[in-house]
Amino acid sequence: MRVWRADLHVHTCLSPCADLAMAPRTIIARAAARGLDAIGVADHNSAANAPAVQRAARGSGLTVFAGMEVTSREEVHILALFGALEAAFAMQEFVQRRLPGRNRPEIFGLQVLVNEEHDVLGFEPRLLAGATGWSLSEVVERVHRLGGLAFAAHADREAFGLLGHLGLLPRGLALDGLELSPNTSEAEFRRRWPECAELPLLRFSDAHSPEQIGRAATGFRLPELNLEELRKALRGAEGRGILTEAASLWKN
Ligand SMILES: [Zn+2]
Ligand SMILES: [Zn+2]
Repeated sequence: MRVWRADLHVHTCLSPCADLAMAPRTIIARAAARGLDAIGVADHNSAANAPAVQRAARGSGLTVFAGMEVTSREEVHILALFGALEAAFAMQEFVQRRLPGRNRPEIFGLQVLVNEEHDVLGFEPRLLAGATGWSLSEVVERVHRLGGLAFAAHADREAFGLLGHLGLLPRGLALDGLELSPNTSEAEFRRRWPECAELPLLRFSDAHSPEQIGRAATGFRLPELNLEELRKALRGAEGRGILTEAASLWKN
């Protein structure tokens, strides 16, 4: 058993709101310099750049989980992470079935598809920043059916955060955890949202630029690093557990 430091919410240059410098090798170099053991690639409504980040990580010792940040019909962000690339792409197919609109780069920003060498392969034409037609429960259910983990991203934040935006935890929503925004301490959060007492709290960076990678992370106490072990840690099963790092980390 050891503690693995994971920042499972990192955008790439595919997200229209992210820095164009968020290229696979830059992300990996920065994550390694920050002492992370794992990252999660979570672009808005797409996993298309995840394979390039995984290839860029070869030989680095870093584990890269493929995923995405899905925008539900309610305009809530769900961080979805998968153990296999195929599952992430099955999720992408599901999400994009009900993702209306075309990107207008001059308004929303460029959505750059790259390989691990940072060659531009093309530009994603869909409006990735938009909301899908799927409800929160449909998104979470599909993530689980595909074997993934579903977290409410920046859950306490008003913009696109589950609790900040909706004002409540929908009954029966089977989340695996809640990502806290940097503004809220765990104690404050637990006081404000007693109905979430059963859910683990996590901190990730939601990095949109290289210097933000690893500014927050969560430690997972596990014998080996893979998605099934993360799932056990979130449940506190078999001696596994999580260590949510202090909010002060964000000031680094
Ligand atoms: Zn978000
Ligand atoms: Zn994000």
